[in-house]
Amino acid sequence: MLYDMPLYRPPSEAYSLIIQVTLGCSHNKCSFCSMYKSKKFTIKSLEQIKEEIDYFRKQYSNVEKIFLADGDALIIQTEKLKEIFKYIKFKFPECERISLYGSPKSILRKSVEELKEFKELGLYMIYMGIESGDNFVLQSIKKGCNSDELLEAALKVKESNIVLSTTVIAGLGGVEKSKNHAINTGILISKINPDFLGVLTLMLEENTELYEKNKTGHFKPLSDKEILEEIKELVKNIDVKKKCVFRSNHASNYISLKGVLPKNKENLIRDINVSIKNNYFKSENLRGL
Ligand code: SF4
Repeated sequence: MLYDMPLYRPPSEAYSLIIQVTLGCSHNKCSFCSMYKSKKFTIKSLEQIKEEIDYFRKQYSNVEKIFLADGDALIIQTEKLKEIFKYIKFKFPECERISLYGSPKSILRKSVEELKEFKELGLYMIYMGIESGDNFVLQSIKKGCNSDELLEAALKVKESNIVLSTTVIAGLGGVEKSKNHAINTGILISKINPDFLGVLTLMLEENTELYEKNKTGHFKPLSDKEILEEIKELVKNIDVKKKCVFRSNHASNYISLKGVLPKNKENLIRDINVSIKNNYFKSENLRGL
């Protein structure tokens, strides 16, 4: 087995070849996330990465898309990352795009010039988890950055002309911060104008701090209906000028929403209203415990 499990990739990378250049997440502190709790963050050696690329070349005759896992491949030192891109291009000349997860901190450590060089070498898209635009929520989930830093990181990606795909999480502020979370996240997304925005819904998972907070009554999760109200508030507060593909159709979501902002904003709000009015969501139960 070449992969160190568990292995995660964005849904849109379902048909990509995954090359695990790092293991785990460099941050690994977010209070809602259990993804890489079992892994110690490691950056593989260039030698090992090249060996794995050689191995995959022998296995696959045609690879159009490559995703560099695990949690934060962009943290790799610039010269080494450039070597990886060059080696991928050398071994997979048919590859049309390379994508990876980039944490805001890792993006901030790179200059726009470095990001532009990565683009020249084949980096097509960076997936960045925003989670929330509200500073109180960001602090309480231990994201490790504030909304200004998220904005700065995102704008750097945009300036380098690398496609930016972002995600936010409905319900992350709980009942107490729901309104602020929705409004401030909408405001941040408006300033960033990402190419893609995915809205997930909070799932309380065992082995996370947020799960424990919920158990001890220190975090009150939203009901299904409140989640939809929050997503509606978020959409209302998004005012992007350029095309942003909006998706809220992850397995965690109660209803499936798709559209392109700003064009489909009113349609999205209408769809959410119809779902709320007709109870097109799972139940009135509270999410979590
Ligand atoms: S949410 Fe992302 S940055 Fe936070 S711990 Fe999980 S993988 Fe790491």
